[in-house]
Amino acid sequence: MVIAIDGPSGVGKSTVSRAVAARLGLSYLDTGATYRAATLAIVRAGVDPSSEDAILSELTGHSIDYSEIGVLLDGESVAFDVRSDEVTRNVSAVSAHPRVRSEIVAMQRRWVDEKDGDAVVEGRDIGTVVFPDSAVKVYLTASPQVRATRRSRDAEASGKSLEEIAGEIGARDHADSTRRASPLRPAKDATVIDTSELGIATVVERIMALAMGTGH
Ligand code: C5P
Repeated sequence: MVIAIDGPSGVGKSTVSRAVAARLGLSYLDTGATYRAATLAIVRAGVDPSSEDAILSELTGHSIDYSEIGVLLDGESVAFDVRSDEVTRNVSAVSAHPRVRSEIVAMQRRWVDEKDGDAVVEGRDIGTVVFPDSAVKVYLTASPQVRATRRSRDAEASGKSLEEIAGEIGARDHADSTRRASPLRPAKDATVIDTSELGIATVVERIMALAMGTGH
């Protein structure tokens, strides 16, 4: 069973997804981290993030995987490095390329296959494109103010004003939701949960109820 949890940044996706995975004893895949690892490889190699061919050619020399300690690039944990400002600034450009997405989506599907098809998968296009037959599809949202405030508590946002963080979130939302390939949007059959006024535990309970309703 795949539980797809999509939505923009700052809605509580990772915390909620990890908690649901732990409760159900399922593996957890953060697909944003896989796009970030690809972007880290591109940034390190000095490749132009607007050139799809150059990105694809660079990525053929790298492996991306995901383990309990987070995302791996060429077998090495890069969980910390993928949160850098430089990666965050470039990740939407890298992940907008359709052929780059195909490669990374293939990796994500293989990963879930290796877990016998049972996982909680979080991202932007899991319910719409990567696993359209997911047993449970959830789309998390929250008001821009709440999202900026939540993001301001993350290490990657340290030293920035709330306005700066809100501006960055807005720019990434715009890029992710207006791109041609797999734009960020709720699947037609997704349950939309606004987390602005809800605690993590309540959101987790709602998703657990949906998962239990599938009979798995
Ligand atoms: O979730 P996170 O903020 O780490 O995602 C980083 C970026 O990766 C997103 O802004 C988006 O550009 C890209 N992404 C994507 N599809 C996904 C997950 C993330 O395009 N399924």
